[in-house]
Amino acid sequence: MSNNGLNIAIEYDDLAPHTHQLEYLTKIKEHLPEFKVTLFTIPLDIRYGEPVRITNPEYELWRKAIRACIRDGWMELALHGLTHNYLEFKNLDHDQAVKRLITAERMMREANLPYVKIFKAPHWYVSPEAKEAIQNKHIVHGIGEFGGMEVVEDGYYHWNLKDDMPKPAEMKDVKVMIAHGHVMDGNGCNNGIQETMHKILDLPTDTNFHFISEIL
Ligand SMILES: [Zn+2]
Repeated sequence: MSNNGLNIAIEYDDLAPHTHQLEYLTKIKEHLPEFKVTLFTIPLDIRYGEPVRITNPEYELWRKAIRACIRDGWMELALHGLTHNYLEFKNLDHDQAVKRLITAERMMREANLPYVKIFKAPHWYVSPEAKEAIQNKHIVHGIGEFGGMEVVEDGYYHWNLKDDMPKPAEMKDVKVMIAHGHVMDGNGCNNGIQETMHKILDLPTDTNFHFISEIL
């Protein structure tokens, strides 16, 4: 890891075929050639009523575009629940969590979207049983291996992108600053890609970008 310049890992929540802001991410990448981003992805998004399946044939062009960004080495996908139902993982027991986890991972695989073994529960809510279920490995004969994931929880990031960047004095013992936001603007979080991208574009030119998977 370079000692010069700021070390940062940027992550946004709620990637789905209808909420992606690829255009803006690409713009950032054009301005900052070293830019890297981790996107927490929803395989079966029910936030807006009609379920949006990441595997749906109509999203193949979108999947191609995402795959190209991953292949070009500046984007990685992590898992953000299955449906993003409010409190989706808050009250699940072990077996219920395993079922949702397996469905989510199967959908990512069926969509042919490479992802890293990192999980963030919708709205950060995860029961202790669900957390353990996600961390454990589950082998389903004839189908594959699931789980074995790192679970990230609220407070693991250092910079909420709606705020000013933490001062260097606050980051003394931090090797890589984790910056957190959402793909979409508004929703009370106000740390969406469009509304905060000026802060990313203002980062020093010698900034070193990292994926979340590289620093956990
Ligand atoms: Zn979310």
